Amino acid sequence: MSLDWDEAQSRWIIRTNRGDAFTAQFVGIGTGPLHVPKLPGIPGIERFMGYSFHTSRWDYDYTGGDPSGLLMEKLADKRVGIIGTGATSVQCVPHLARACKELYVFQRTPSSVDVRANAPIDPDWFSGIATPGWQQRWLENFTANQAGGSANEDLVQDGWTDLSRRIREKVLLLPREQRTPQNMLAAFEDSDFEKMEEIRARVDSIVEDRETAARLKAWYRQLCKRPCFHDTYLQAFNTAGTHLVDTDGKGLDEVTERGVVVAGKEYVLDCIIYASGFEVGTAYKRRAGFDLTGRDGIKLSDYWSEGMRTKHGIHVHGFPNVFFVQPTQGANLISNVPHNLTEAARTIALMVRHARANGFRQIEVTKDAEERWIELLLTGAGRMIGSPDCTPGYYNNEGREPGPAARLNVGHPAGASAYFKYIDGWRNSGQFEGVQFR
Ligand SMILES: Cc1cc2nc3c(=O)[nH]c(=O)nc-3n(C[C@H](O)[C@H](O)[C@H](O)COP(=O)(O)OP(=O)(O)OC[C@H]3O[C@@H](n4cnc5c(N)ncnc54)[C@H](O)[C@@H]3O)c2cc1C
Repeated sequence: MSLDWDEAQSRWIIRTNRGDAFTAQFVGIGTGPLHVPKLPGIPGIERFMGYSFHTSRWDYDYTGGDPSGLLMEKLADKRVGIIGTGATSVQCVPHLARACKELYVFQRTPSSVDVRANAPIDPDWFSGIATPGWQQRWLENFTANQAGGSANEDLVQDGWTDLSRRIREKVLLLPREQRTPQNMLAAFEDSDFEKMEEIRARVDSIVEDRETAARLKAWYRQLCKRPCFHDTYLQAFNTAGTHLVDTDGKGLDEVTERGVVVAGKEYVLDCIIYASGFEVGTAYKRRAGFDLTGRDGIKLSDYWSEGMRTKHGIHVHGFPNVFFVQPTQGANLISNVPHNLTEAARTIALMVRHARANGFRQIEVTKDAEERWIELLLTGAGRMIGSPDCTPGYYNNEGREPGPAARLNVGHPAGASAYFKYIDGWRNSGQFEGVQFR
Protein backbone atom coordinates (compact mmCIF):
# COMPACT_ATOMS: atom_id res chain seq x y z
CA MET A 1 0.00 0.00 0.00
CA SER A 2 1.19 3.56 -0.65
CA LEU A 3 0.04 7.19 -0.58
CA ASP A 4 1.67 9.53 -3.10
CA TRP A 5 1.05 13.26 -3.37
CA ASP A 6 0.31 14.57 -6.87
CA GLU A 7 1.13 18.28 -6.73
CA ALA A 8 -0.29 19.11 -10.18
CA GLN A 9 -3.71 17.79 -9.30
CA SER A 10 -3.55 18.55 -5.55
CA ARG A 11 -4.60 14.99 -4.94
CA TRP A 12 -3.36 11.93 -3.08
CA ILE A 13 -3.01 8.73 -5.09
CA ILE A 14 -3.71 5.75 -2.83
CA ARG A 15 -2.60 2.33 -4.02
CA THR A 16 -3.52 -0.85 -2.17
CA ASN A 17 -2.03 -4.32 -2.20
CA ARG A 18 -5.13 -5.42 -4.13
CA GLY A 19 -4.15 -3.34 -7.16
CA ASP A 20 -6.54 -0.43 -6.46
CA ALA A 21 -5.58 3.17 -7.22
CA PHE A 22 -7.83 5.84 -5.67
CA THR A 23 -7.50 9.59 -5.78
CA ALA A 24 -8.57 11.80 -2.91
CA GLN A 25 -8.23 15.50 -2.21
CA PHE A 26 -8.15 14.96 1.56
CA VAL A 27 -7.01 11.91 3.50
CA GLY A 28 -7.52 11.12 7.18
CA ILE A 29 -5.16 8.50 8.58
CA GLY A 30 -6.66 6.52 11.47
CA THR A 31 -4.54 3.39 11.47
CA GLY A 32 -4.79 3.00 15.23
CA PRO A 33 -2.52 3.26 18.26
CA LEU A 34 -2.49 -0.40 19.33
CA HIS A 35 -3.27 -2.76 16.52
CA VAL A 36 0.03 -4.49 15.63
CA PRO A 37 0.40 -7.62 17.77
CA LYS A 38 3.61 -7.81 19.80
CA LEU A 39 5.22 -11.12 20.65
CA PRO A 40 7.59 -11.30 23.62
CA GLY A 41 11.28 -11.66 22.81
CA ILE A 42 11.62 -14.96 24.69
CA PRO A 43 14.47 -17.19 23.50
CA GLY A 44 13.26 -20.29 21.68
CA ILE A 45 9.82 -18.91 20.84
CA GLU A 46 9.98 -20.48 17.38
CA ARG A 47 10.83 -23.94 18.73
CA PHE A 48 7.47 -24.78 20.35
CA MET A 49 5.93 -27.86 18.70
CA GLY A 50 2.44 -27.42 20.20
CA TYR A 51 -0.16 -24.89 19.04
CA SER A 52 0.24 -21.16 19.69
CA PHE A 53 -1.42 -17.88 18.77
CA HIS A 54 -1.58 -14.23 19.82
CA THR A 55 -4.79 -13.07 21.53
CA SER A 56 -5.59 -10.77 18.60
CA ARG A 57 -5.62 -13.82 16.30
CA TRP A 58 -7.83 -16.00 18.51
CA ASP A 59 -8.34 -19.37 16.87
CA TYR A 60 -11.85 -20.58 17.70
CA ASP A 61 -11.30 -23.57 15.40
CA TYR A 62 -8.70 -24.71 17.89
CA THR A 63 -10.38 -23.61 21.13
CA GLY A 64 -14.06 -24.06 20.30
CA GLY A 65 -16.52 -21.48 21.62
CA ASP A 66 -17.19 -18.13 20.00
CA PRO A 67 -16.73 -14.39 20.64
CA SER A 68 -20.01 -14.22 22.57
CA GLY A 69 -18.43 -16.28 25.35
CA LEU A 70 -19.70 -19.77 24.52
CA LEU A 71 -17.64 -22.39 26.37
CA MET A 72 -14.40 -23.21 24.51
CA GLU A 73 -15.14 -26.90 24.73
CA LYS A 74 -12.18 -28.06 22.64
CA LEU A 75 -9.84 -27.02 25.45
CA ALA A 76 -11.34 -29.54 27.89
CA ASP A 77 -8.40 -31.93 27.46
CA LYS A 78 -5.71 -29.26 26.93
CA ARG A 79 -2.92 -27.81 29.05
CA VAL A 80 -2.87 -24.16 28.05
CA GLY A 81 -0.39 -21.46 29.01
CA ILE A 82 -1.26 -17.77 28.68
CA ILE A 83 1.69 -15.39 28.70
CA GLY A 84 0.98 -11.95 30.07
CA THR A 85 -1.40 -10.54 32.67
CA GLY A 86 -2.31 -7.16 31.18
CA ALA A 87 -5.66 -5.77 30.05
CA THR A 88 -6.18 -8.48 27.42
CA SER A 89 -5.25 -11.41 29.61
CA VAL A 90 -7.51 -10.19 32.40
CA GLN A 91 -10.41 -10.54 29.97
CA CYS A 92 -9.35 -13.98 28.62
CA VAL A 93 -8.38 -15.79 31.82
CA PRO A 94 -11.92 -16.27 33.25
CA HIS A 95 -13.06 -17.90 30.00
CA LEU A 96 -9.96 -20.08 29.76
CA ALA A 97 -10.23 -21.12 33.42
CA ARG A 98 -13.75 -22.43 32.74
CA ALA A 99 -12.67 -24.34 29.67
CA CYS A 100 -9.14 -25.76 30.04
CA LYS A 101 -8.06 -28.98 31.65
CA GLU A 102 -5.09 -27.07 33.08
CA LEU A 103 -4.44 -23.36 32.71
CA TYR A 104 -1.08 -21.79 33.54
CA VAL A 105 -1.07 -18.00 33.78
CA PHE A 106 2.49 -16.72 33.40
CA GLN A 107 2.90 -13.37 35.12
CA ARG A 108 5.71 -10.81 34.96
CA THR A 109 3.88 -8.05 36.88
CA PRO A 110 0.33 -8.32 38.26
CA SER A 111 -2.29 -5.89 36.99
CA SER A 112 -4.31 -3.94 39.53
CA VAL A 113 -7.81 -5.37 39.17
CA ASP A 114 -10.58 -3.31 40.70
CA VAL A 115 -14.36 -3.80 40.75
CA ARG A 116 -16.08 -3.36 37.39
CA ALA A 117 -19.75 -3.52 38.47
CA ASN A 118 -21.28 -2.69 35.10
CA ALA A 119 -25.02 -2.29 35.46
CA PRO A 120 -27.94 -1.25 33.27
CA ILE A 121 -28.44 2.53 33.04
CA ASP A 122 -31.35 3.78 35.12
CA PRO A 123 -33.68 5.54 32.63
CA ASP A 124 -34.90 8.01 35.29
CA TRP A 125 -31.35 9.02 36.15
CA PHE A 126 -30.50 9.32 32.46
CA SER A 127 -33.47 11.52 31.64
CA GLY A 128 -32.25 13.84 34.42
CA ILE A 129 -28.80 14.33 32.93
CA ALA A 130 -29.55 14.14 29.20
CA THR A 131 -29.88 17.83 28.48
CA PRO A 132 -28.37 19.11 25.20
CA GLY A 133 -24.58 18.75 25.18
CA TRP A 134 -24.51 16.13 27.94
CA GLN A 135 -22.15 13.83 26.07
CA GLN A 136 -19.55 16.56 25.51
CA ARG A 137 -19.81 17.53 29.20
CA TRP A 138 -19.23 13.91 30.17
CA LEU A 139 -16.24 13.59 27.83
CA GLU A 140 -14.63 16.73 29.19
CA ASN A 141 -15.40 15.87 32.79
CA PHE A 142 -13.87 12.39 32.48
CA THR A 143 -10.66 13.80 31.01
CA ALA A 144 -10.51 16.60 33.58
CA ASN A 145 -10.84 14.05 36.37
CA GLN A 146 -8.66 11.39 34.95
CA ALA A 147 -5.90 13.20 33.07
CA GLY A 148 -4.80 15.73 35.64
CA GLY A 149 -7.29 18.48 34.90
CA SER A 150 -9.04 20.55 37.51
CA ALA A 151 -12.58 19.20 37.66
CA ASN A 152 -14.68 20.32 40.59
CA GLU A 153 -17.07 17.39 40.27
CA ASP A 154 -17.07 13.83 39.02
CA LEU A 155 -19.97 13.18 36.67
CA VAL A 156 -18.66 9.80 35.58
CA GLN A 157 -18.15 8.15 38.98
CA ASP A 158 -16.32 5.10 37.72
CA GLY A 159 -13.18 3.22 38.70
CA TRP A 160 -10.95 5.49 36.62
CA THR A 161 -12.18 8.68 38.25
CA ASP A 162 -12.25 7.27 41.78
CA LEU A 163 -8.62 8.23 42.37
CA SER A 164 -9.06 11.88 41.44
CA ARG A 165 -12.26 12.03 43.50
CA ARG A 166 -10.29 10.91 46.53
CA ILE A 167 -7.46 13.37 45.86
CA ARG A 168 -9.94 16.23 45.51
CA GLU A 169 -11.67 15.29 48.76
CA LYS A 170 -8.34 15.24 50.60
CA VAL A 171 -7.30 18.59 49.13
CA LEU A 172 -10.64 20.16 50.06
CA LEU A 173 -10.08 19.12 53.65
CA LEU A 174 -6.97 21.30 53.72
CA PRO A 175 -7.33 24.96 54.70
CA ARG A 176 -6.88 27.09 51.56
CA GLU A 177 -3.45 28.42 52.62
CA GLN A 178 -2.17 24.86 52.97
CA ARG A 179 -3.03 23.85 49.39
CA THR A 180 0.61 23.99 48.29
CA PRO A 181 2.09 21.82 45.48
CA GLN A 182 3.83 19.76 48.15
CA ASN A 183 0.57 19.09 50.02
CA MET A 184 -1.22 18.34 46.77
CA LEU A 185 1.43 15.74 45.96
CA ALA A 186 1.04 14.28 49.43
CA ALA A 187 -2.74 14.10 48.89
CA PHE A 188 -2.10 12.27 45.64
CA GLU A 189 0.30 9.79 47.24
CA ASP A 190 -2.03 9.14 50.19
CA SER A 191 -5.03 8.64 47.91
CA ASP A 192 -3.12 6.37 45.60
CA PHE A 193 -1.84 4.24 48.47
CA GLU A 194 -5.33 4.07 49.99
CA LYS A 195 -6.81 3.03 46.65
CA MET A 196 -4.15 0.40 45.96
CA GLU A 197 -4.55 -0.98 49.49
CA GLU A 198 -8.24 -1.52 48.74
CA ILE A 199 -7.39 -3.26 45.50
CA ARG A 200 -4.87 -5.48 47.33
CA ALA A 201 -7.43 -6.23 50.07
CA ARG A 202 -9.87 -7.22 47.32
CA VAL A 203 -7.39 -9.87 46.18
CA ASP A 204 -7.29 -11.31 49.70
CA SER A 205 -11.05 -11.32 49.97
CA ILE A 206 -11.49 -13.25 46.69
CA VAL A 207 -8.49 -15.51 46.10
CA GLU A 208 -8.50 -18.53 48.40
CA ASP A 209 -4.89 -19.68 48.14
CA ARG A 210 -2.73 -17.30 50.23
CA GLU A 211 0.42 -17.68 48.15
CA THR A 212 -1.49 -17.01 44.90
CA ALA A 213 -3.24 -14.03 46.49
CA ALA A 214 0.08 -12.54 47.58
CA ARG A 215 1.46 -12.90 44.06
CA LEU A 216 -1.59 -11.23 42.48
CA LYS A 217 -1.15 -8.02 44.46
CA ALA A 218 0.10 -4.96 42.61
CA TRP A 219 2.69 -2.96 44.50
CA TYR A 220 2.93 0.22 42.44
CA ARG A 221 0.97 3.41 41.83
CA GLN A 222 -2.37 2.84 40.13
CA LEU A 223 -1.48 4.70 36.92
CA CYS A 224 1.90 2.98 36.58
CA LYS A 225 0.25 0.27 34.54
CA ARG A 226 -3.07 0.26 32.77
CA PRO A 227 -5.61 -0.20 35.59
CA CYS A 228 -7.98 -3.12 35.04
CA PHE A 229 -11.56 -3.61 36.21
CA HIS A 230 -13.03 -7.10 36.24
CA ASP A 231 -15.52 -9.05 38.32
CA THR A 232 -14.40 -12.61 37.50
CA TYR A 233 -10.63 -12.45 36.86
CA LEU A 234 -9.43 -12.96 40.44
CA GLN A 235 -12.14 -15.59 41.03
CA ALA A 236 -10.68 -17.62 38.16
CA PHE A 237 -7.68 -18.48 40.36
CA ASN A 238 -10.02 -20.42 42.67
CA THR A 239 -10.85 -22.79 39.81
CA ALA A 240 -9.29 -26.24 40.12
CA GLY A 241 -6.71 -26.58 37.36
CA THR A 242 -5.87 -22.85 37.12
CA HIS A 243 -2.35 -22.02 38.24
CA LEU A 244 -0.60 -18.70 38.56
CA VAL A 245 3.09 -18.92 37.66
CA ASP A 246 4.69 -15.75 38.90
CA THR A 247 8.08 -15.00 37.39
CA ASP A 248 9.02 -12.47 40.03
CA GLY A 249 9.22 -9.61 37.55
CA LYS A 250 11.69 -11.48 35.35
CA GLY A 251 9.49 -13.04 32.65
CA LEU A 252 10.01 -16.49 31.15
CA ASP A 253 13.45 -18.07 30.77
CA GLU A 254 12.73 -19.72 27.42
CA VAL A 255 10.24 -21.52 25.23
CA THR A 256 11.09 -25.14 24.41
CA GLU A 257 9.65 -27.71 22.01
CA ARG A 258 7.30 -28.87 24.78
CA GLY A 259 6.38 -25.78 26.71
CA VAL A 260 7.96 -22.94 28.66
CA VAL A 261 10.62 -22.68 31.33
CA VAL A 262 10.38 -20.45 34.40
CA ALA A 263 13.12 -20.36 37.02
CA GLY A 264 14.59 -23.55 35.57
CA LYS A 265 11.28 -25.50 35.69
CA GLU A 266 9.64 -26.66 32.46
CA TYR A 267 5.86 -26.46 32.10
CA VAL A 268 4.67 -28.88 29.42
CA LEU A 269 1.83 -27.36 27.35
CA ASP A 270 -0.42 -28.19 24.43
CA CYS A 271 -1.06 -24.55 23.61
CA ILE A 272 0.58 -21.19 24.30
CA ILE A 273 -1.52 -18.04 24.04
CA TYR A 274 0.48 -14.83 23.80
CA ALA A 275 -1.39 -12.05 25.63
CA SER A 276 1.68 -9.90 25.15
CA GLY A 277 -0.03 -6.79 23.83
CA PHE A 278 0.53 -4.50 20.90
CA GLU A 279 3.30 -2.32 19.55
CA VAL A 280 3.30 1.19 20.97
CA GLY A 281 5.67 3.89 19.85
CA THR A 282 7.46 1.87 17.15
CA ALA A 283 8.15 3.62 13.83
CA TYR A 284 5.01 4.83 12.12
CA LYS A 285 5.70 3.01 8.85
CA ARG A 286 6.21 -0.26 10.70
CA ARG A 287 2.85 0.03 12.45
CA ALA A 288 0.80 1.44 9.57
CA GLY A 289 2.43 -0.88 7.06
CA PHE A 290 2.81 1.84 4.39
CA ASP A 291 4.73 5.02 3.68
CA LEU A 292 3.55 8.40 2.43
CA THR A 293 5.38 10.30 -0.29
CA GLY A 294 4.72 13.99 0.05
CA ARG A 295 5.73 17.06 -1.91
CA ASP A 296 9.06 16.79 -3.81
CA GLY A 297 9.18 13.04 -3.20
CA ILE A 298 9.87 13.27 0.52
CA LYS A 299 9.01 10.08 2.41
CA LEU A 300 7.23 10.36 5.73
CA SER A 301 9.52 7.64 7.15
CA ASP A 302 12.53 9.88 6.35
CA TYR A 303 10.87 13.02 7.64
CA TRP A 304 10.06 11.23 10.91
CA SER A 305 13.29 9.20 11.10
CA GLU A 306 14.24 10.98 14.33
CA GLY A 307 10.71 11.09 15.72
CA MET A 308 7.29 12.34 14.84
CA ARG A 309 7.02 16.00 13.75
CA THR A 310 3.57 17.56 13.47
CA LYS A 311 1.44 20.47 14.50
CA HIS A 312 -1.33 19.31 16.85
CA GLY A 313 -0.49 15.69 15.99
CA ILE A 314 -2.55 16.24 12.84
CA HIS A 315 -0.57 18.19 10.22
CA VAL A 316 2.86 17.50 8.74
CA HIS A 317 4.78 20.04 6.67
CA GLY A 318 5.38 18.77 3.13
CA PHE A 319 2.33 16.50 3.30
CA PRO A 320 -0.61 18.73 2.34
CA ASN A 321 -4.23 17.64 2.75
CA VAL A 322 -3.39 14.65 4.95
CA PHE A 323 -4.58 14.57 8.56
CA PHE A 324 -3.40 12.18 11.26
CA VAL A 325 -6.25 11.16 13.54
CA GLN A 326 -4.49 10.07 16.73
CA PRO A 327 -3.48 11.38 20.20
CA THR A 328 0.32 11.93 20.12
CA GLN A 329 1.51 15.57 19.97
CA GLY A 330 -2.06 16.67 20.75
CA ALA A 331 -3.70 15.79 24.05
CA ASN A 332 -1.53 12.64 24.13
CA LEU A 333 -2.65 9.25 25.39
CA ILE A 334 -5.63 9.53 27.71
CA SER A 335 -7.87 6.74 28.96
CA ASN A 336 -10.61 7.68 26.55
CA VAL A 337 -8.84 7.69 23.20
CA PRO A 338 -12.13 8.33 21.33
CA HIS A 339 -12.12 11.78 22.97
CA ASN A 340 -8.86 12.50 21.11
CA LEU A 341 -10.32 11.14 17.90
CA THR A 342 -13.55 13.14 18.15
CA GLU A 343 -11.65 16.37 18.73
CA ALA A 344 -9.34 15.65 15.78
CA ALA A 345 -12.37 14.99 13.58
CA ARG A 346 -13.92 18.35 14.55
CA THR A 347 -10.70 20.19 13.78
CA ILE A 348 -10.30 18.48 10.42
CA ALA A 349 -13.96 18.99 9.44
CA LEU A 350 -13.73 22.74 10.08
CA MET A 351 -10.58 23.06 8.01
CA VAL A 352 -11.96 21.06 5.11
CA ARG A 353 -15.15 23.12 5.21
CA HIS A 354 -13.10 26.33 5.17
CA ALA A 355 -11.08 25.08 2.18
CA ARG A 356 -14.14 24.05 0.20
CA ALA A 357 -16.13 27.18 1.00
CA ASN A 358 -13.27 29.37 -0.23
CA GLY A 359 -12.09 27.33 -3.20
CA PHE A 360 -8.73 26.34 -1.67
CA ARG A 361 -7.11 23.22 -3.06
CA GLN A 362 -4.42 22.69 -0.43
CA ILE A 363 -4.12 22.83 3.35
CA GLU A 364 -0.62 22.64 4.82
CA VAL A 365 1.12 23.55 8.05
CA THR A 366 4.11 25.86 7.66
CA LYS A 367 7.54 24.57 8.65
CA ASP A 368 7.86 27.35 11.18
CA ALA A 369 4.52 26.59 12.87
CA GLU A 370 5.40 22.89 13.07
CA GLU A 371 8.76 23.71 14.69
CA ARG A 372 7.16 26.08 17.19
CA TRP A 373 4.63 23.42 18.15
CA ILE A 374 7.39 20.86 18.78
CA GLU A 375 9.28 23.41 20.86
CA LEU A 376 6.16 23.96 22.97
CA LEU A 377 5.64 20.22 23.44
CA LEU A 378 9.20 19.80 24.66
CA THR A 379 8.73 22.38 27.41
CA GLY A 380 6.67 19.96 29.50
CA ALA A 381 6.64 16.43 30.82
CA GLY A 382 3.66 15.95 28.54
CA ARG A 383 2.44 12.68 29.99
CA MET A 384 -0.17 11.88 32.57
CA ILE A 385 0.53 8.18 32.93
CA GLY A 386 3.61 6.01 33.19
CA SER A 387 6.89 7.07 34.68
CA PRO A 388 10.41 5.66 34.34
CA ASP A 389 10.35 4.48 37.98
CA CYS A 390 7.18 2.41 37.43
CA THR A 391 7.20 -1.33 36.72
CA PRO A 392 7.87 -1.88 33.01
CA GLY A 393 4.97 -1.75 30.58
CA TYR A 394 3.72 0.10 27.54
CA TYR A 395 2.84 3.19 29.57
CA ASN A 396 6.53 3.85 30.24
CA ASN A 397 8.38 2.44 27.23
CA GLU A 398 9.02 -0.81 29.16
CA GLY A 399 10.88 1.19 31.79
CA ARG A 400 13.60 2.29 29.37
CA GLU A 401 14.84 5.80 28.95
CA PRO A 402 13.06 7.26 25.94
CA GLY A 403 15.31 7.45 22.87
CA PRO A 404 15.53 10.54 20.64
CA ALA A 405 12.40 9.51 18.72
CA ALA A 406 10.36 8.54 21.81
CA ARG A 407 11.02 11.90 23.46
CA LEU A 408 8.71 13.39 20.84
CA ASN A 409 5.85 11.04 21.83
CA VAL A 410 4.42 13.68 24.11
CA GLY A 411 1.39 15.92 24.37
CA HIS A 412 0.52 19.48 25.30
CA PRO A 413 2.69 20.56 28.24
CA ALA A 414 -0.33 21.73 30.23
CA GLY A 415 -2.16 18.41 29.85
CA ALA A 416 -5.06 16.93 27.95
CA SER A 417 -7.86 19.24 29.13
CA ALA A 418 -5.73 22.29 28.33
CA TYR A 419 -5.07 20.96 24.85
CA PHE A 420 -8.77 20.38 24.16
CA LYS A 421 -9.57 23.91 25.30
CA TYR A 422 -6.76 25.33 23.20
CA ILE A 423 -7.69 23.43 20.02
CA ASP A 424 -11.33 24.45 20.30
CA GLY A 425 -10.26 28.08 20.34
CA TRP A 426 -7.76 27.55 17.52
CA ARG A 427 -10.20 25.96 15.09
CA ASN A 428 -13.12 28.26 15.91
CA SER A 429 -11.10 31.46 15.56
CA GLY A 430 -11.32 31.05 11.76
CA GLN A 431 -7.61 31.98 11.55
CA PHE A 432 -6.13 28.44 11.63
CA GLU A 433 -2.88 30.00 12.77
CA GLY A 434 0.20 28.25 11.31
CA VAL A 435 -1.72 26.48 8.57
CA GLN A 436 -1.80 27.79 4.99
CA PHE A 437 -4.76 27.47 2.66
CA ARG A 438 -3.84 27.75 -1.03
C1 LIG B 1 -6.00 -4.34 25.35
C2 LIG B 1 -6.37 -2.94 24.93
C3 LIG B 1 -7.03 -2.11 25.81
C4 LIG B 1 -7.40 -0.83 25.43
N1 LIG B 1 -8.07 -0.05 26.32
C5 LIG B 1 -8.49 1.17 25.96
C6 LIG B 1 -9.25 1.98 26.84
O1 LIG B 1 -9.54 1.62 27.95
N2 LIG B 1 -9.65 3.20 26.41
C7 LIG B 1 -9.36 3.63 25.18
O2 LIG B 1 -9.79 4.70 24.84
N3 LIG B 1 -8.61 2.91 24.35
C8 LIG B 1 -8.19 1.69 24.69
N4 LIG B 1 -7.44 0.94 23.82
C9 LIG B 1 -6.97 1.57 22.63
C10 LIG B 1 -7.89 1.36 21.46
O3 LIG B 1 -7.12 0.69 20.52
C11 LIG B 1 -8.35 2.73 20.95
O4 LIG B 1 -9.06 3.45 21.88
C12 LIG B 1 -9.24 2.68 19.72
O5 LIG B 1 -9.39 1.42 19.20
C13 LIG B 1 -8.57 3.55 18.72
O6 LIG B 1 -9.36 3.63 17.59
P1 LIG B 1 -8.70 3.85 16.17
O7 LIG B 1 -9.84 3.91 15.20
O8 LIG B 1 -7.74 5.00 16.22
O9 LIG B 1 -7.79 2.59 15.93
P2 LIG B 1 -8.15 1.04 15.78
O10 LIG B 1 -9.41 0.69 16.46
O11 LIG B 1 -6.89 0.30 16.12
O12 LIG B 1 -8.41 0.93 14.21
C14 LIG B 1 -7.38 1.09 13.24
C15 LIG B 1 -7.77 0.30 12.04
O13 LIG B 1 -6.88 0.61 10.98
C16 LIG B 1 -6.56 -0.59 10.30
N5 LIG B 1 -5.31 -0.43 9.60
C17 LIG B 1 -4.07 -0.18 10.10
N6 LIG B 1 -3.17 -0.13 9.10
C18 LIG B 1 -3.85 -0.34 7.95
C19 LIG B 1 -3.47 -0.43 6.57
N7 LIG B 1 -2.21 -0.30 6.18
N8 LIG B 1 -4.42 -0.67 5.67
C20 LIG B 1 -5.72 -0.82 6.04
N9 LIG B 1 -6.13 -0.78 7.32
C21 LIG B 1 -5.21 -0.53 8.26
C22 LIG B 1 -6.47 -1.62 11.42
O14 LIG B 1 -6.56 -2.92 10.92
C23 LIG B 1 -7.68 -1.22 12.27
O15 LIG B 1 -8.85 -1.81 11.79
C24 LIG B 1 -7.07 -0.35 24.16
C25 LIG B 1 -6.42 -1.18 23.25
C26 LIG B 1 -6.07 -2.46 23.63
C27 LIG B 1 -5.35 -3.32 22.63
